[in-house]
Amino acid sequence: MKEQIDKLYRNTFLTKEEYIDLLSKLTQTGQQGQRDYLYQKARTVREKYYQKKVYTRGLIEFSNYCKNNCYYCGIRAENQNVERYRLTPEEILACADEGYHLGFRTVVLQSGEDFFYDTKQIGNLVAAIKKQHADTAVTLSLGEREKPVYQYWYDCGADRYLLRHETATKTHYQKLHPSGLSFEHRIQCLLDLKEIGYQVGAGFMVGSPFQTLEHLAAELLFLKKLEPHMVGIGPFIAQKDSPFAAYPNGTLDQTLVLLALIRLTLPKVLLPATTALGTIDPQGREKGILAGANVVMPNLSPAAVRKKYQLYDNKICTGEESAQCRGCLETRIRSVGYELVTERGDYVDLAVCTKRGE
Ligand code: SAM
Repeated sequence: MKEQIDKLYRNTFLTKEEYIDLLSKLTQTGQQGQRDYLYQKARTVREKYYQKKVYTRGLIEFSNYCKNNCYYCGIRAENQNVERYRLTPEEILACADEGYHLGFRTVVLQSGEDFFYDTKQIGNLVAAIKKQHADTAVTLSLGEREKPVYQYWYDCGADRYLLRHETATKTHYQKLHPSGLSFEHRIQCLLDLKEIGYQVGAGFMVGSPFQTLEHLAAELLFLKKLEPHMVGIGPFIAQKDSPFAAYPNGTLDQTLVLLALIRLTLPKVLLPATTALGTIDPQGREKGILAGANVVMPNLSPAAVRKKYQLYDNKICTGEESAQCRGCLETRIRSVGYELVTERGDYVDLAVCTKRGE
């Protein structure tokens, strides 16, 4: 197993069979020593490119309306038990402003797939944030759109786009989503976003229903080929009103192993230790950082709406103010020897070059 980890560390390609073999050994309970070896290698790689820095993204969850019915998700259209909300453009700008003063240089605007805000309104919002704070990166995470729309938002100033592909295996995708949602379209969106020039984030849930080690190996091969700038992964966590309410959650160990393998597979990637990871384990985000993650995404939404953006049960940090969240994370990150920084936190190659042809 050590040889395969070393192979990845040297940036040598692993085959699907090798990934499956490695995953099956690493996720066995008696293998903590091997997992620690993997995490140590992952840390060495992340520190080569990002030193001890941990970048922050201020997440503004501005609408929990969604037209889709993903079987795993708490804000799916058919869930009648969600109190729906939308923030106004003024409220969103106020959150971004507060974030700036707290030290965030990236804001992420995320929502369900909500077409209430039209293309132009979203573009105006992006432009307004950039006008307010020119040194802030704007990330969008609004789901699937057509390429001209993505292009328009990019032209308005959006820098990055997060769109988890959810699974790289079409048959698995079809088990997680109703027939109206297309695997091919979601992947095409990622390709379009890359072509336009966004820093692109893909990703998937670890331990989602029906997921096998073969699927996980396919994730790593897919990511290697796509070469996204960011990869958002977190454990699947059951949501009580969803069709997957009775399925088991993804595990801490499996998620940490995947974080570390992604770090070795894509050495320069921006890799969040997600809120979902902090939800399944009180030290989940710290452990994620120690497994090779280099980003955290605390919430900047107004405290009054946070509980309503329940993608899964028992989500943490829904009762706190933004300043509290930032302070709490700073302490947590410092406790494991890393440092929360006030920087845009671009992909390392792009940070040294100029962006947008400047
Ligand atoms: N609508 C946008 C989209 O489709 O990309 C962004 C919002 S969507 C709710 C954000 C992510 O939440 C999804 O990509 C999914 O991976 C994650 N998510 C949803 N339900 C989850 C669950 N039960 N457990 C863990 N993650 C979940």
